[in-house]
Amino acid sequence: MGAHHGQILRILRDEGAQSRAILARRSKLSPTTLTHVTAQLLADGAVAEDEPVASNGVGRPGLAIRLLPDAYHVAGVHIGAGLVQLVVTNLIGVPKAAAAFDFEVPQTQPDAVIARVAYEIERLVAESSVGRLLGVGLGVPGPVDAEQRSILASLNTGWRNPPLAEMLEQQTGLATVLEHNVSSMAIAESRFGIGRDVPAVLFVYLRSGFGAGLVIDGIPFRPGGHGAVELGHIQISQNGPLCSCGNHGCLESYVNERVLMRALELKGPPPSDLLAQLEKTAEWAPMLTRLTDSLSIAINLLTPDLIVFGGHLGEAPESLFSHLRTHLPPRVMPHMRDILRLERTSFGSQAGAIGGATVALDHFFYSGVRH
Ligand SMILES: [Zn+2]
Repeated sequence: MGAHHGQILRILRDEGAQSRAILARRSKLSPTTLTHVTAQLLADGAVAEDEPVASNGVGRPGLAIRLLPDAYHVAGVHIGAGLVQLVVTNLIGVPKAAAAFDFEVPQTQPDAVIARVAYEIERLVAESSVGRLLGVGLGVPGPVDAEQRSILASLNTGWRNPPLAEMLEQQTGLATVLEHNVSSMAIAESRFGIGRDVPAVLFVYLRSGFGAGLVIDGIPFRPGGHGAVELGHIQISQNGPLCSCGNHGCLESYVNERVLMRALELKGPPPSDLLAQLEKTAEWAPMLTRLTDSLSIAINLLTPDLIVFGGHLGEAPESLFSHLRTHLPPRVMPHMRDILRLERTSFGSQAGAIGGATVALDHFFYSGVRH
C-alpha cells in the first residue's frame, strides 16, 4: 500500500462507488498504475468491484469499484478532563461498540488512564468481533507535538508531555496517533458529518473547558506553537476571574462546566441538560452575550463557513441557536452573514471518540500507509 492507494480510497470515501475510468480521471493516475492499485485494493479486501455504472453511451459500462466499509476497523478515544470515551468504528466512522469511564483530575496520572484505555479497547474488540484493529486515534485535551505522539501541556488535567502514543502502543501493540480533541471533532464533521463539502469548519466544545478546532479544506489548522484554536482564552474582561491559563477574564473563566454548575448549585456529575437548566436563571443572558462576543471575533478572524457546537453546547436549548443566529450576523463582516451556518454536532455525545477514530482512519487507512 502507498500514497496512490490512499488517494483512491479517499475518492471512494468522499464520492462513493466509481468506475475505473472516473477514478483514473479524478486521480490523474495512469491506466497501468490505476489497474495495479485497484488490483491490490481488491486483493486486500478494502474494496469490491460489482454493479455496472451507467456509461455515457460510448462503449460498454464499466464495473464500479466501491469501498467496503466493514473491511477494517479502528478505535477512537476521547480523553477529556476526567472523562474518557471510546468507540470502535468501521471505515466510515460508524460506531460498532462504545465504552466510557471517569477519572479523578488532577490526581490520576496518565499511565493509569492509558492502562484502562488499553483494557477497554481489548474488551470492545472482543465483544464486537471486528478482528484486529488498524490503529488507535487519541483525541487529547491540549496541543500535541508535530509527530502527534505526545500531548504538550494540558491545563485541565495537569499533564505535561506524557508520550501517550508510545505508552498505549506498548500496551496494545496497535499503532497510535494523537490529535487535539476538539480538532479531532472538527475533522470527523468534515469527513463524515455535517461539515462534508464545507471548506472551513470550526468546532466549538464546552465541557470542563471551552475548546475549539478548525479544519480548512479537510486539513486541521495547526498554526505556530502546535497550538489549538484557543477560543476559550480570548480575553473578554480585563478584570475578570483568574483563568487556568494564568490570565484574567478569558471566555473559559466565565463559561466552563464548574462555574455553570456552581451557578446552578449543582453537585456530582454534570447533567446533560446543563444549559437548559441555566436558561431558567439570570446567568443565561450574560452567558449568551459572552458567547456572542467571542464567536464574532472568531468569525471575523477565521471566516468559518460552518460552526459546529458540541459538548454542552451540542445539547443546548434551541434558544441559544436562535440568539446566535440573530445577534452574530450584525457583528461580522457583511460577506460572512450569508455564508455562516450554525449547527449541532452530527455525533452527539460521541463526537470526541468518533473524532479520535477519524484521525486513526486518516493516518492508518486513508493515507494508504499501513502500520
Ligand atoms: Zn485563559
